Amino acid sequence: MRTQVAIVGAGPAGLLLAQLLHLRGIDSVVLEAKSRHYIEHRVRAGVLEHQSVDILNEAGVGARMMREGLLHHGLMLRFSGQVHRIDLTALTGRAVMIYGQQEVVKDLVAARVATGSPLHFEVEDVQPQEFDTDRPRVLFRSGGTQQVLECDYIAGCDGFHGPCRVSISPTELKLFERVYPFAWLGILAETPPASEELIYANHERGFALLSMRSPTVSRLYLQCAPDESLENWPDERIWSELQTRLGSGRDLDLRIGPILQKGVTPMRSFVAEPMRHGRLFLAGDAAHIVPPTGAKGMNLAITDVYLLAEALARHYRDGQDDRLNEYSATCLRRIWKVQRFSWWMTMLLHRFSDDSEFDRRRQLAELDYITSSRVGAQSLAENYVGLPL
Ligand SMILES: Cc1cc2nc3c(=O)[nH]c(=O)nc-3n(C[C@H](O)[C@H](O)[C@H](O)COP(=O)(O)OP(=O)(O)OC[C@H]3O[C@@H](n4cnc5c(N)ncnc54)[C@H](O)[C@@H]3O)c2cc1C
Repeated sequence: MRTQVAIVGAGPAGLLLAQLLHLRGIDSVVLEAKSRHYIEHRVRAGVLEHQSVDILNEAGVGARMMREGLLHHGLMLRFSGQVHRIDLTALTGRAVMIYGQQEVVKDLVAARVATGSPLHFEVEDVQPQEFDTDRPRVLFRSGGTQQVLECDYIAGCDGFHGPCRVSISPTELKLFERVYPFAWLGILAETPPASEELIYANHERGFALLSMRSPTVSRLYLQCAPDESLENWPDERIWSELQTRLGSGRDLDLRIGPILQKGVTPMRSFVAEPMRHGRLFLAGDAAHIVPPTGAKGMNLAITDVYLLAEALARHYRDGQDDRLNEYSATCLRRIWKVQRFSWWMTMLLHRFSDDSEFDRRRQLAELDYITSSRVGAQSLAENYVGLPL
């Protein structure tokens, strides 16, 4: 089996790359460990920067997002018992789109299937090989049969736990990591969102976030211990804690509804440099993780593969490798700014077990500054809607 680009992983990064390459006349084969049903129902991110919306539209997969997505022009910050609005559009001229990652994945899978190009689900034992030569290949098993996929390039879009990054010699990678001493307990609930816009709450009992996936489905999060067991969190305790941290009664009409999904997500910042090793390119979570407070994970995956598709198109169309050579540095410059913003939002909104009274006062003063100074609010808004490519 042979293709131009072997893509490992059918998350937002791998599927979008396949679609962008298809539109540029470049062949690819996508290899995914899970089933189609699994990836189409994996609930994760849900906030798209304006630029991600443009890229998905340009890729021809934005029609349902434009119909069903919720355009948000602002967000709320809640602290010291009060809610303050950050008007994203007044501050930046931009907005963000609320549209679940699993919906983006469904749209991309449908587009891929429509092209008739290869997308193999439930493959096993994927091994990227020989990418430091000009004859890279990927070994994998499908339906019990061993396969060899020869290619010009390998795109490692296989998430944080995938095989691509770990197949690079550790001496050639520089890893940067920060693990936070808390996690997010997230629920998906069948209840109309209690607010039209997201509410990020800094409460003395810990962070909480009210967000949504549609006019009838809410996505809610609570800061919890990193090793928190879901057994400690029966539904009543979750709703009661959400009401305490987000406000209830006259403040907010948080309506209890059936919980469709529950999970604990650990929080880390992580970057692997560089993102290119010979003919292997890393993109998305395979190369970097951000804590979800800034809503950036899926957006970074989208911008990485947009740049990679452009670089590969320049190689195949113009015979020029300048963009491929610059891919890692170009991505990393933006990734580190997004890392900074995600870290900053995390530090601003969470309680740390070793918080001193000084830290607490400083956090509240910073929130006060952001919500009372146009410059303070504008910096948050500019990063939240997305920095330019
Ligand atoms: C539990 C969870 C909750 C999250 N919540 C949020 C959130 O609320 N907000 C936010 O902004 N971000 C969130 N994120 C981050 C965001 O979802 C990711 O940044 C985004 O999925 C990155 O896309 P990706 O395509 O790079 O990686 P992924 O979506 O992880 O896709 C990688 C793909 O590679 C496949 N794969 C892995 N190993 C192999 C293998 N051996 N062979 C073949 N395929 C393989 C995986 O099955 C997967 O389909 C969350 C992440 C997680 C894990």
